Formats: sequence, C-alpha cells, structure tokens
Amino acid sequence: MSPARQSDSKATIARVALPLPLPQTFDYLSESSGPSPGCRVRVPFGRSSRVGIVVGTAAHTDVSSDRLKSIDAVLDHQPVLDAELLVSLRRAADYWCGAIGDVIFGALPLALRNGSAQDAFAEEIWCATAAGTSARDARTRRGGSAALLETLSDAALSASELDTLLPGWRAAARRLATAGLIERIAPEIRAPCVREGASPILTDEQADALAAILSAGDGFRPFLLQGVTGSGKTEIYLRLAERALQQGRQTLWLVPEIGLVPQALRRLRARFDARIAVLHSNLAEGERARAWLDARSGTAAIVLGTRSAVFAPLTKPGLVVVDEEHDASYKQQEGFRYHARDFALMRAQSLDIPIVLGSATPSLETLANVEAARYTRVRLRQRVHARQPSPVHVLDLRGLKLAHGLSPALLDALDATLARGEQALVFKNRRGYAPVLLCHACGWYARCPKCEKPLTLYRGRRQLLCHHCGHTERAPDACPYCHVDALIPQGQGTERLEEALAARHPNVPVLRVDRESTRQRDGFAKLLDRLADDQPAILVGTQILAKGHDLPNLTMVAIVGVDEGLHSVDFHAGERLAQLIVQVAGRAGRADKPGAVWLQTHEPDHPLLTTLLKGGYDTAAALQLGERLASGLPPFTHMALLRAESAQRQALDDFMGAARDALAQSGSGKALRINGPFAAPMPLRAGRHRAQLLLESGHRPALRHALVAWLPQLHGLPQSRGLRWSIDVDPVDLY
Ligand code: ADP
Ligand code: ZN
Ligand code: ZN
Repeated sequence: MSPARQSDSKATIARVALPLPLPQTFDYLSESSGPSPGCRVRVPFGRSSRVGIVVGTAAHTDVSSDRLKSIDAVLDHQPVLDAELLVSLRRAADYWCGAIGDVIFGALPLALRNGSAQDAFAEEIWCATAAGTSARDARTRRGGSAALLETLSDAALSASELDTLLPGWRAAARRLATAGLIERIAPEIRAPCVREGASPILTDEQADALAAILSAGDGFRPFLLQGVTGSGKTEIYLRLAERALQQGRQTLWLVPEIGLVPQALRRLRARFDARIAVLHSNLAEGERARAWLDARSGTAAIVLGTRSAVFAPLTKPGLVVVDEEHDASYKQQEGFRYHARDFALMRAQSLDIPIVLGSATPSLETLANVEAARYTRVRLRQRVHARQPSPVHVLDLRGLKLAHGLSPALLDALDATLARGEQALVFKNRRGYAPVLLCHACGWYARCPKCEKPLTLYRGRRQLLCHHCGHTERAPDACPYCHVDALIPQGQGTERLEEALAARHPNVPVLRVDRESTRQRDGFAKLLDRLADDQPAILVGTQILAKGHDLPNLTMVAIVGVDEGLHSVDFHAGERLAQLIVQVAGRAGRADKPGAVWLQTHEPDHPLLTTLLKGGYDTAAALQLGERLASGLPPFTHMALLRAESAQRQALDDFMGAARDALAQSGSGKALRINGPFAAPMPLRAGRHRAQLLLESGHRPALRHALVAWLPQLHGLPQSRGLRWSIDVDPVDLY
C-alpha cells in the first residue's frame, strides 16, 4: 500500500459530495487552491464520471495516492450553494440521518443537478402590451386567453408565478403573443416596494402582536403566532415581510401544501410590487431552477413555497414565516425524512433572523417550546371581522337509526341550512364509496392480496383499491367465494355520502372534494369556481376541506366519523384529531352569517372531545401534553424509528436482529431505551413484511451520538443487502 497522499503546495484535496445514498464524501485532487466550496465539479467515479459538489477542502487525505483521482472539470465560477446552506444542510443530514450527497443534491433544483450552466435560466417575464390592455377592457377574448390577459394587465408576472396562478397558461400565451396582445420583456431590476393604500389599519390586537415581534429586533428569535383562522395572522406576516423588504432583506414564506400557494401569492402580490420566487412541486424544472436562482441572487424579495422551498438559498435573509406550523405535511415521509418547520428553525438560527410559526392549533412540540420559554408566544384572540365563534353541537349516535351514517338531527340541520340558501360542509376522512365490501351470505370480504387489509370500494369506477399499496382490481358483481349475489358495501366514504346527499337534495349541487376528485392540477379551485357564493350547496370531503378557500356562504359544518381517531394506536392521533376538529369547525360562518358545527360520535364522553368542546384547543392540548409527559412520550423524550421491509421474512428478522445487536453492543446504546424489533402496525404491505425498532432517550444528544455511530454500522451489515430500510428521527407517525 502506498502512503497516504500529502498534498504539495500546488494541489489541494477537495471533499466532494456525490448524489449517492452513502454517508460519506469523496476526496479528489484539485489544482492550486481548488474550487470553492459549493461549486459543482465533474469527477471520475467508478467507470464513469459524475457531477459532484465541493463541500470543503483539506490539506491531506486518507486515500492512497495511486487511488486518488483528479477533478475533471470545475463547472461553476460562482458556487451554487452558499456557505450558510452548506453548513445547514450538513446539520440537517446529521440530525435526520440523511446521506450527505443525497441531502445536498436534494436541495438543488433538478435542472442544476446535472452540469447545466447557471446562466441558462434567465428570467422569463410576461406583460400585456397597450393593445392587450385595450383588448382586456373591450373584453374581446374568452376563456384562458381572457384570464391571462386580465392577469397580465394588472402586473408583469414571471413564468413560475403564472404556473402557479393559471396552470396551463402557455397555450393562451402563444395565441396572445401572436396577436401582439402580450409580450415577453427583459427583467427589470428595480427596488421592490409596498403598494400604496393596500394595507388595512391594524386592529389593536394585531398592532400589539406586531409590536411584540418587532421589538425583539432583527436577530434569531422564534415566535409562535397563535390565532384562529380569520384572526389576522397573515396580515401580521405581511407587515413583517414589509419591514424586511424596507431593509432590503428577503422573506422565506412556507405553506404546508400546494393548494395554499395561490392564495398566499395573491395576498403577497396585492401588497408588494416585488419579485416573488415561487417554489413547489407543480413547476416545470426550468422555472424551478429560475425561481431558486432568483432567491439566491436576491432578485426575489420574497420566496414562497411548500416544504422543499425551505432549501432555497437566501443572500439577504430577513425573516422566515412558517404558516400552519402544526401541519404534518411539513414532514417528508420518504427518502430524506426532514421536517421543514424544524429545518426552517435551524436556518433562521444560522442566518440569525426572526422566525414566525403561525397556527390556530399549534403542535405539541411548539407548545412545549413555548412552555420552556424557548419560543415567544403572541396571540390573536379575536377574529378581525368580529363574530361569535360557531357553537358546536355534539350528536350522540348511540342507539340511533342512521341513514348512510348520518343521524336524523344532522339531516334536519342540513335541510334547514339549505332552505336558508346557505352552504354546508360534510367532513368524512375516508375516500371512496365504502371501506369494506362484504358478502352477506358467507362472510367473505374483499382483501388486498399483498397487504391482507380490506380493499376500499370505488363504486363509480367499479374498482376495489388498496389505500396502503395502490393495488386495484375490478369490483365483482357477486361473491367470488360462494357466488351468491349478496355483496354489501360496509361503512361510508365520501363517494357514498355524496350519492346519499345528492339523492336527498336533487336540486342542490353536491361537490365532492377529496384526493380523487381533485387529482388534476388545481382541481379544488376549479371545483369551487363552479360554486356561486349566494347559492345553497353541499360540500362533502376529506381533510383537504379543512384549510384554505374562504367560503362566505358556508354556515354549517358536519363532522362525521371521527371515532377512529379516538382509538388509534399511534400516540399522535389525539393531537391530530383535536387539530382537525378545530380546523374543520373553523370553516363555518366566516363572513357575516353565524355558523354552527355538528359533531357525530359514539363516544360523546371521551375526554379528548369533552375537553376540546369545553375548554377549546388550549385545554385539549394541555391535556395531551400532560399525558405525553406522564407516559414519557415526545416532546418529553426523543425518538428515532428504524423501519425495514423485505419480501423475505427471514431476511427481515436477520437484519433487525443484527441492527439491534450492533446498537446494544456499542457503548452509546446504553443511554437509550431500545424497543423491539417488532412487527410494524401494518405488518405486511405490498407483499413485503415490515418491522420496526424504536429508540428512545430523554436526552437528545445521547440519541444523536448513538445514531451517528449506528448509521455506518447499518450500512455495513451484510444483512442489509437487498433490503429496504430507513431511519426516521422524530417520526410524525409510527406507521
Ligand atoms: P388568518 O391568516 O389568521 O386566517 P387573515 O390575515 O387572512 O387571517 O385575516 C382574515 C381576513 O381579515 C382577511 O380577509 C384579511 O384581509 C382581513 N383582515 C386582516 N387584518 C385586517 C385589518 N386589520 N383590517 C381589515 N381587514 C383585515
Ligand atoms: Zn359469499
Ligand atoms: Zn395493498
């Protein structure tokens, strides 16, 4: 073996991250001082070459000189990733046990992960011409063209904003550009500003909240802004963004899901004449790269997006906003399992800027941080347009005769709502027609062959679908086992409720809003467009209905079938259910009309429901936190979950056993409680056996140390080959 290479004065060792699921970086020889950290390089790897990112340089390496290779080419003059992001990403990779190369490459837009030049993504800005504005006023255009012309007559917009506000706009753009009504213009760099007369006068409560946040200064400081929907939280975010903008600093604004982006973008556009970079999953890759580069160059004063926007580079950072901070969508559930809210906190800390977490129903983690005085809580207790909160009526279902799962009192209330010309929302957290298809003659029921769980019936599509693995099959007409024509759908999903309600109210539009009916791009917005404000209607849907979109004529909310949430094995279920009930209930009576909420249950005396209804979310959350403390659960302990799955039961058991032994033998394992291995709550999915090992510690650093030592061991276990495994730090479900 040759001696480890000592670099001479002309050469440096570059540490390079490659997009591989491995915990290490790779050393390469580079000329002179080497490329700056954050630059992309092309390097030989195995028999081919790859694009990597330099994460640092070193004077020497453990790689022997006959194996040490040189960088082929440096692809950037200016680093794609700045120093702060590199440091934060490394911290994130450590915290959530990610592979460093995967994490770093995951932060880059796809279009920049190969070697494309950064300046290939020039901004694409569109605006209406003078002829276009006249055509708009004369209303000579229809459909998509009219909508685009209308939008561009108000303001010039970038392609990513158009993608967000008017998906599919390019066809109309071609027609209008050919007709000379719109044109693509060069991006002008001008100072962003606040539109005059766009800001309302703050209520006293808002003014106090804003003053409390501003008085803390410009450094790192986490705030919880707690207030019900309609209490004016967004207005506070806008004022804080305005302050940042006046100081020439950027705001990073996160929302939990894509459906909430257009609404936030409209509010921002109405307030600011500024470049807004939008980042979410429905962008063309070129546009994503462009928006990302705008964030990095500082051209964009505001960066708005969903979970992954938390990786946006910021040159002049001033503020981070995390709206609906409690939302579990902030947690990435596959690959690199980071939590965007928590990563936003890490970044705000290293950028030394304030961060505001907003919610009507804060997570227990955040509330515990408030208790511990790590976060400052600021409250908005009243809705801006003063109104009584909607009363909640609990309907005890025990012993009642139900029609499609709906009680007579609920149906009466629904009839009365519609008769007043108002709208009602029926919430049921289950898609499809029925969760079980049962044979009344022999007891057979349709089961997924790969998961052994009941298949959900979708009657419209005449299909049976497995919600766990996606397996589908044709719904049989008669029992495949006894051949008797006695199949009965058991239980209700949204599709069945839609059918039942439409049959009961043939002259009222019934809209179903769930993942099936809104599968297309902005399907929800399109569905709602069909709904006039002043007309009676029924919305039936899943939790998609819980947020967004103000429906002024919605005065009744019916919550049916939440009892499953009272019995779940997952300790998060109570918190989720309380949040869901408060969020859904918050949809009733937003404008000048009073609302009412109806909650059907077989367990009206369940402590979660009674505390929630008597004392509101704060009391319910305090009860939950008390239970978590008493049972030694997060946020009072810290958890990491090793999940593994394999088609071979034996291979799975061998791996889990070896994983446990490795941990138990290492010194660091002693500071932990190691539970398992045991079968996952869903022991079989898509034909694979699944198992878990749960690590707990009251001491976060002890858990981190153990994981750091354990991870390379897991990668090295011979039993890990051909098997899928992952580590989930702070899991949001134990599924
Ligand atoms: P939240 O984000 O808490 O749901 P918003 O900021 O969206 O609340 O405010 C609810 C509604 O009240 C919005 O239509 C908003 O435009 C309006 N609003 C907020 N603050 C004021 C204010 N100070 N004066 C008048 N209207 C306001
Ligand atoms: Zn049968
Ligand atoms: Zn299945």
